[in-house]
Amino acid sequence: MISRAEVDKLLSVRAAGPSVLSLYLQVPLDPAELRGLPARAGELFDLAVRDGPGTSGVVRVRAADRQVVRALLASRARDWLGHTVAIFACAELALAEAFPLPCPLQERAVLATRPHVRPLLTAMQRCPFYHVVMVDRRHAWLFTITGERIETTVLPPAPGLRSHGFSGWYGLQAYRVNDRIIELARHHYHDAAVLLEQASRVCGPQPLVIGGHDDTVPQFLAVLPAGRRDQFAGRFVADPHTLTPARVRDLAGRVIADWARARDQRLLIEFRQQPPDGRTATGLAACLAAASQHAIELVLVPAGGLVPGYACPRCGALSSTPGGCPHAPGASLAVPDLIEEIAVSTLADGGQVQTLTGPPGSIAARLRFPLAGQTS
Ligand SMILES: [Zn+2]
Repeated sequence: MISRAEVDKLLSVRAAGPSVLSLYLQVPLDPAELRGLPARAGELFDLAVRDGPGTSGVVRVRAADRQVVRALLASRARDWLGHTVAIFACAELALAEAFPLPCPLQERAVLATRPHVRPLLTAMQRCPFYHVVMVDRRHAWLFTITGERIETTVLPPAPGLRSHGFSGWYGLQAYRVNDRIIELARHHYHDAAVLLEQASRVCGPQPLVIGGHDDTVPQFLAVLPAGRRDQFAGRFVADPHTLTPARVRDLAGRVIADWARARDQRLLIEFRQQPPDGRTATGLAACLAAASQHAIELVLVPAGGLVPGYACPRCGALSSTPGGCPHAPGASLAVPDLIEEIAVSTLADGGQVQTLTGPPGSIAARLRFPLAGQTS
């Protein structure tokens, strides 16, 4: 499973020329179709060939990297059935890494000076790993779900009351019994919250889904610390004792999909409601200028498409045509995807990148400060 740490590690890879191959390939679900996979990779390699200003000769996938991809597919494709796999290869840097992704993504092959990571960011946002806590009054389970993998932790059952405590008592005494049950439950929710806290410390803040009976979910939510409550993505009602881990993943997966859709919608609305204070950039030209000035706080990018362009090796300025800065146009280097360049420079500046189905103007950004000499 890909994580932000893996993305950062990939982004630290750098070649002198455009020799790093990034391949995103859909592995068929049916093993019988695997034999067509190398040919499909070859088609994508052909689409990655490029030439023209800013390149020194024709850029194409090298024989050694084709060989690495073939070998990886031959040995591991059976583990990736039904998944999009990301493969990064560069023989001169001894790079050969593969990651099966949790959701289907557009196929592509890209040759650049570093790995092409936009699809990885999209996968992490669309199919994040997340926690599910299932609770009832005596039991708690914590599930950490990453794609199809489910890790389950079971909390020891809370001590019960002796059975005579539940029947034949009336009035005040009955209330006392009830108090005692709620108090026990609170302790036990607290234990579950501690378990969640420990898991979150290991893998960072992740969306949280809570499942259980109608009344236990809000009670558990109430004992969570505020920071953890902010991660709450949603709930589902079910009797914990009737569920398998796979069923928990199905129910929670729907909650996460709704949560991700609502988050994207909210980001779009917030962007459209920004005051006209010059702190937004809409469209590629405005976002290129904003990235060149290190002004981007949040950039909304599309999932698909590659937009070829240029980068100045001296000042880092990005442009659609060679020479988008005071330096010699002849020095500009061709880059296969300006959207990737904007995304990576935003991350390097401590900003955020969010993939949306239809960002305003195809790409849009919220800025830390208005751009010099421009209004948006
Ligand atoms: Zn320059």
